[in-house]
Amino acid sequence: MRKGEVKQIELTGQNVLVLRDAQSALAAGATQVLVCKRCIVTPSARDFLRQNEIELVIGGPAAKGSSVAAASSSQSSPVQATRSPANPRLFSTPEAEAIKLEICAVGRKLWNRAYVDGNGGNISYRIGPNEVICTPTLVSKLDLTPADLCLVDLDGVQIAGTKPRTSEIFLHLEIYKAVPEAKAAVHCHPPHATAYAITGRVPPNGIIPEFEVMVGKVAVSPYETPGTAAFAQTVLPYVREHNTVLLSNHGIICWADTVTHAEWYAEVLDTYCWTLMLASQLGVPISQISERQTSDLLAIKKTLGLPDSRFDPSAIRECQLSDMEDPNSIARLPCVRDGARSNTADAPEVDRLVQSVTDAVMRAINET
Ligand SMILES: [Zn+2]
Repeated sequence: MRKGEVKQIELTGQNVLVLRDAQSALAAGATQVLVCKRCIVTPSARDFLRQNEIELVIGGPAAKGSSVAAASSSQSSPVQATRSPANPRLFSTPEAEAIKLEICAVGRKLWNRAYVDGNGGNISYRIGPNEVICTPTLVSKLDLTPADLCLVDLDGVQIAGTKPRTSEIFLHLEIYKAVPEAKAAVHCHPPHATAYAITGRVPPNGIIPEFEVMVGKVAVSPYETPGTAAFAQTVLPYVREHNTVLLSNHGIICWADTVTHAEWYAEVLDTYCWTLMLASQLGVPISQISERQTSDLLAIKKTLGLPDSRFDPSAIRECQLSDMEDPNSIARLPCVRDGARSNTADAPEVDRLVQSVTDAVMRAINET
């Protein structure tokens, strides 16, 4: 290959680019690797490409005719991104420095409240139209310092920062792309809310005013492997009408206008779930506030600019304002628009199961 010639390897069919792929690209003599926008590039793969001066091009699909084995290419050109290029200078402005301190403070709050463990959880803030400050991978939220933080664009490509960004950034980025008002997102694993998330159930509404105003109806997104594009997209049906989503078998994600406010929603949700669990142990019915009083709270919520699926009149039929089916039941299936899962055992399935067990028991009794 002549000096200066470009040889592009197209890997737009892959959702993940690992070190082995980068090594194969080098072996094939690539000077560029083209991946699709959703592709997760592992830090080791990214480092390997950089060390070997192979350019990582985010775009795709590649120009017609190029192929993994033989892309040769002065003719192939990556698809132009529709967004303006990310500006790395936004990572060192006075605003960015203040946001970094706020992210670190929120990280300590999450850890102190036992909402994250190990290196779990992640925090981000959209500081520009195509620039997001986020936490790195493999750092405890207790130990975060401003120097640990990263800057990525809306495709998840790291623009600045010395540590590799969190692998779960795509979850945050999907929210930023879908909800213009979302400026900050906090993902964590608070135990009481996550207890609901592993059952696919949501807490009932119409019990504590602060929860109604700050969070309200909680949605449940289906399970997907964390860090994948499929996982990131699970929240899309819910994030416009909910600022807080339970992630099945995983944890929660909250978005807000500030990092501090997004963390507040995590606190309000987890405390609510915890309080319900405690109240359910008292052995007396939990009282509800009336539908009229709940609609008063929703009116307050609307003036604060907070989202709620119940603002849509058609939602009232699907999901009542106050929805405790039984004064002793603190968990209910979400209504369909809030993520009721088809794979959750429904009443007919339970009936069939009970009937088959009953039949087996009766047979065993009759045989003795
Ligand atoms: Zn997580």
